[in-house]
Amino acid sequence: MAGIYLHIPFCKQACTYCNFHFSTSLQRKGEMIQAILRELEIQKDYLEGASIETIYFGGGTPSLLTSDEIKIITEYIFKNYNVGSLKEFTLEANPDDLDIAYLKTLRATAVDRLSIGVQSFRESDLLYMHRAHNVQQADYAIKAAQDAGFTNLTIDLIYGTPGLTDADWKYNLSQLAALQIPHFSAYALTVEEGTALDHAIKKKKAVPVDAVQSAAQFEMLIEQAPLMGYEHYEISNFAVPGMYAVHNTNYWRGIPYLGIGPSAHSFNGKERRWNVANNALYINSLLQENKLTYENEILTTAQHLNEYIMTSLRTMWGCDLDKVREDWGNEYTAQVIENSYQFREKKWMIEKDNKLIITDAGKLFADRIAGEMFADEMK
Ligand code: SF4
Repeated sequence: MAGIYLHIPFCKQACTYCNFHFSTSLQRKGEMIQAILRELEIQKDYLEGASIETIYFGGGTPSLLTSDEIKIITEYIFKNYNVGSLKEFTLEANPDDLDIAYLKTLRATAVDRLSIGVQSFRESDLLYMHRAHNVQQADYAIKAAQDAGFTNLTIDLIYGTPGLTDADWKYNLSQLAALQIPHFSAYALTVEEGTALDHAIKKKKAVPVDAVQSAAQFEMLIEQAPLMGYEHYEISNFAVPGMYAVHNTNYWRGIPYLGIGPSAHSFNGKERRWNVANNALYINSLLQENKLTYENEILTTAQHLNEYIMTSLRTMWGCDLDKVREDWGNEYTAQVIENSYQFREKKWMIEKDNKLIITDAGKLFADRIAGEMFADEMK
């Protein structure tokens, strides 16, 4: 079992908070598609023939691809990879790209799930973030996608934005149920070093983000979501029962995946690799030298275990001690159990059916807890 992630490194305009890899020049889009096909050819054996359960087109903005371009890439994957057990095919899309005509042609591709970058149902938040769409377009895109037959929808929301009051945040959340959206991801606005938002805040041209407001709105979120029928199944992800994101859930379970495209990451159970985060270098090395430019690292036993701890503790299924024992042995398991006691005492973690699970009280500190749960390398 495995997944394929494909990074489409183009956006119409740069959102101020974004530190993903993308270019706002679409001039080399055609060559990029050719380079992606070349990489798919070169990487054919990376997953050792594992059956592909999920395909995920992320970015950047994959909805800048035409449906024909999506078909060309998809057909190549279907011909050259083992996709017999494909369960989910997600495409990230921005609201301003989703009109009826495009959605109709998208339905004729293999895409069966859309992840729509809504971020907020408030105009001032979208302006603060320099998003390319407005509230009306977000509302229209969701309804048009549903009308076109995309029932498996997820949207992204951002909280902690300066000016977003608790009442505004509650309003944004109420829109989810009103629009019958089965899955959503909610992220705190974070100011990453070197982003336009970081510069603007440092030059006092943008209002800084308030960590206290962010924490309070996360607490509101985890209180409100279950009342609206959503399960909080991963720190940033919520779904009505059964509508979990298969691709992401597999990633949190440590299932191998192949990342295609500039800046994409891959993991095959032993090695982690990441492609060059530069469109020109990516295209030129693939199309002129038939070579993929990447860096990699072979994970040590403890690094592999710690990745599992980090991702599994973020989910409602928790860190499975039976799996830890089976995959890493008794001594590592003893370390993990020992490291968990301080958090159990604080009631930030419980053990249930041999699984360590972070409680609601601990969720705000999930990354810190995971970091302190890490096992040391055994000699
Ligand atoms: S659309 Fe997405 S990837 Fe592109 S700049 Fe905005 S947040 Fe970043």
